[in-house]
Amino acid sequence: MNWQSILQRQQGWTIDKANEFRLSIEEATELYSNAPLHELTMAADKRRKLFFPSGEVTYLVDRNVNYTNVCTINCQFCSFYRPPGHDETYTQSFEEISNRVSELEKIGGSRILMQGGVNPELPFSWYLDLISHLTNNHPNIQLDCFSPIEIEGIADVSGMSTFEVLKQLKEVGLHGLPGGGAEMLVDEVRSDVSPKKGSPDNWLRVMEEAQSIGLTTSATNVFGFGESLNQRVEHMSRIRTLQDSSIEKYGRGFTSFIAWPVQLETNSFGKRNRGQNKYVLGAGPTEYIRHVAISRLFFDNISSIQASWPTMGLGIAQMALLSGANDAGSTMMEENVVSASGTSKISASEIELQNTIIRAGFIPVKRDSDYNLLHTEIVEKITKDLAAPIPSQH
Ligand code: SF4
Repeated sequence: MNWQSILQRQQGWTIDKANEFRLSIEEATELYSNAPLHELTMAADKRRKLFFPSGEVTYLVDRNVNYTNVCTINCQFCSFYRPPGHDETYTQSFEEISNRVSELEKIGGSRILMQGGVNPELPFSWYLDLISHLTNNHPNIQLDCFSPIEIEGIADVSGMSTFEVLKQLKEVGLHGLPGGGAEMLVDEVRSDVSPKKGSPDNWLRVMEEAQSIGLTTSATNVFGFGESLNQRVEHMSRIRTLQDSSIEKYGRGFTSFIAWPVQLETNSFGKRNRGQNKYVLGAGPTEYIRHVAISRLFFDNISSIQASWPTMGLGIAQMALLSGANDAGSTMMEENVVSASGTSKISASEIELQNTIIRAGFIPVKRDSDYNLLHTEIVEKITKDLAAPIPSQH
């Protein structure tokens, strides 16, 4: 088995024959390790076209809200959190959060992605009241809030099961769970970089519970902790396996997969290894593009692969769209977690996302959190002054 024969066989892949041509972990690792970049991206681009033949690339107008930075989990790669009692802790009031949602409504947004730390000072009633408040005041905004580790934290504080926490939050208006906190769903990696986060099984269990009651979920992947390529594919495999099972049991699973390299500028993980981690770990653009292409080829049961502009920039996100990704991410309006470890661009306007998509040769289409397509107005005529025509990618 070598990369040439694997890619040759993948030429026969169609949506109807996805099972027959499914990539194994070993095959994906061989491609990741040895296939030349252009061969890999061409195969991934061809696969993207089978899922999205019309050449449309989606994006979302949304807002991030990081409601509290109090956290007890101490992930090595996180510069955002502050331990309880630290003088830089904050928890936003309902009014502050609501004001942020109002700003999103003013630009025609459709969802908020709200994540924070695992804050033991907040009772379950605070979360229920917050979601009720937002549902009542912003009925048209989808509320994707609290990643699995936050749900676990709420369950610990309240003495309830994570399933019961999810059910009660859904009853008051929760729409979905962000995919954050997955990082690497591989025991050896996780126990090194975020030992208090618990095993990968916990993240997968909470996500399955959310999917079982109809909450919208997405899957993420942070890589570059020094793990092997085989472990990166193993992470994808854990998600692919749950996706198979959830689609069979509940008729739904993750809407999308998004990966980005760990940021190492300012956190303790970057400073480890006598400061060398910052230089030798993480991943640059070429490695990132390989990762996107592998994820497109590996996930035959998740149709949407998202490009990550906050960590890679809009230019590399554009290259990701030519390497298997079909979604340009979202406007975000603010981002405080990943950016605390080193990224500087924390917001993209709708026109920036449209421009990125159009100039890569695709058609921009606005979507909501569930990937329903929305009416899209091209914010500005972007192409009129370009020196050369844009090649169509469809
Ligand atoms: S990544 Fe999340 S769980 Fe980990 S320390 Fe930061 S806020 Fe806490």
